[in-house]
Amino acid sequence: MLSSCPSCPLPTKKGSHSSSVTPSISLRFFMWRFVTTLYVTDIQNDSYSWPLFVYMGSSCVYPLASSCAHTFSSMSKNARHICYFLDYGAVNLFSLGSAIAYSAYSVPDAMVSTTFHDYYVPLAVLNTVISTGLSCYSRFLEIQKPRLCKMVRVLAFAYPYTWDSLPIFYRLFLLSADGVQNEAVLYHQKHTAMTLLASFFYSAHLPERLAPGRFDYIGHSHQLFHVCVILATHLQMEAILLDKTLRREWLLANSRPLSFPQIAGAIFLCLIFSLSNIIYFSATLYRIPEPELHKKET
Ligand SMILES: [Zn+2]
Repeated sequence: MLSSCPSCPLPTKKGSHSSSVTPSISLRFFMWRFVTTLYVTDIQNDSYSWPLFVYMGSSCVYPLASSCAHTFSSMSKNARHICYFLDYGAVNLFSLGSAIAYSAYSVPDAMVSTTFHDYYVPLAVLNTVISTGLSCYSRFLEIQKPRLCKMVRVLAFAYPYTWDSLPIFYRLFLLSADGVQNEAVLYHQKHTAMTLLASFFYSAHLPERLAPGRFDYIGHSHQLFHVCVILATHLQMEAILLDKTLRREWLLANSRPLSFPQIAGAIFLCLIFSLSNIIYFSATLYRIPEPELHKKET
């Protein structure tokens, strides 16, 4: 999954800065995984590994964006909004990276080369565009309609995650006794559970609701959310690496791999449309009267 910092509703500078620690540590870890894997791969000739590197690259981008968002969001009120617009875009890029990796390595045998498989990545691209737009838009609802804001933001991240995870849910819940199952399934299960736990911390705001002020530095739900998200990404990466290794021969013989133009085109479209969304909403910030957007520190 797909996960990162879909809201960051931290009220204070100290909370925001302390929550930037987890993404910055995880950024170093995922970069180390990316570089060490790259080092042992003949990237030019091993086209089977290209989707993995797209995924691993995107897993470095979202902790970087999240870390920057938490660090620089206290510069000004508009800077805070723009930082999180970029954070949302990075989360969606990671979502697309996950879809590309799942399409290449984790789609169950029964789905390989079906119509669903053919449209899986193109629709994931469309989802990232819509999701970035919805999540950015949700920030304009924080003051006037906080409940709607929360619903829109949760929807913006839940539905691309659900779409990306359909092949995994199929394996977990419909193919438990099937021969295509392998050791990766255990990691897919753990990844799903960790994502649910991250969602719980994000929405429940525990434990600070029980003792306001006591968890501003350590133990804030948003920190726990980030820890769960990073662990979920680690588990997802292990699952994808196992699928890639264990299913290599079968997939090379039976599936139509994504070509370089398909992968590059998907990433390019995601970047262009997501950045267009971010630029549009950033420009909108400066057209709205200050009190309407900035009454509340979130
Ligand atoms: Zn955050």
